Amino acid sequence: MRKIMQKSAWLKAQGPLVACPVCQAVMTVSETSLVCVAGHRIDLAKKGTANFLNKPVATEYTTPMLAARRRILEAGFFHPFLTAIAAQLRPSDRLLDVGCGEGTPTATLAAGVAAAVGFDISAPAIQLTGGLDTAAFFCVADLARLPFGDDTFDVLVDLFSPGNYAEFDRVLRPGGRLFKVIPAASYLRELREGLYGGTDKATYSNAQVRERFLVHYPRTTVREINNDFALTKAQFADLMAMTPLSWQAPAERRAAMLEHPPASMHVGVELLQVDYCEK
Ligand SMILES: [Zn+2]
Repeated sequence: MRKIMQKSAWLKAQGPLVACPVCQAVMTVSETSLVCVAGHRIDLAKKGTANFLNKPVATEYTTPMLAARRRILEAGFFHPFLTAIAAQLRPSDRLLDVGCGEGTPTATLAAGVAAAVGFDISAPAIQLTGGLDTAAFFCVADLARLPFGDDTFDVLVDLFSPGNYAEFDRVLRPGGRLFKVIPAASYLRELREGLYGGTDKATYSNAQVRERFLVHYPRTTVREINNDFALTKAQFADLMAMTPLSWQAPAERRAAMLEHPPASMHVGVELLQVDYCEK
């Protein structure tokens, strides 16, 4: 079956899920489009993705950067913390991946749940999700105005993306669960030291992000997950391309690191987990 038909059948089977980005009414599936009672209409793209933005938003991520990201994620760069989250998912869960990028982590998590949706503000990223072999549904959407009904999801996952906690609370059902992954100070340590050693950019703190989350969700469990990922030279070049950390770095330092890359990269993150979200 063509992908567009697969995804429209999937959407139909979900029942109420999508809220109209214009009038917030429930959208239903009509052939390969989503329509609301007021007649607003969103056509699925060829690969079965949807775009809920009124106008395109330019982001810093280009298709080559996203392709580099996919290669390194497929090699297992995020594997340790994805495994930690996946182990806690239930087969009945409907999951939303916030800021899903090119979708590789969403596809990993989708394997263990009843339904998975990933959204991102980047249209090129969502276009790349079309190449994934997964049951997950992907769309372009705005974090501040999620195109989903109230109480729609059992689980929200936010990997390195900005959060909008009012919207999280709205689309997550009462008692739903939330997993947020933020970089620890040691995240990409070798890259940070190589590019910025001796400057004030050499250190990083996640204190503000963590603090803001804990104020909103006081019953959060914080767990550190550390891993050293062995890199080939080509993988290091991919990592350099995919991370915003490297984009502003001095050209000579970038060149020096590409020539003599570190043998491994530290992936230190904090998993902020809420097991029962109240309204
Ligand atoms: Zn509408």
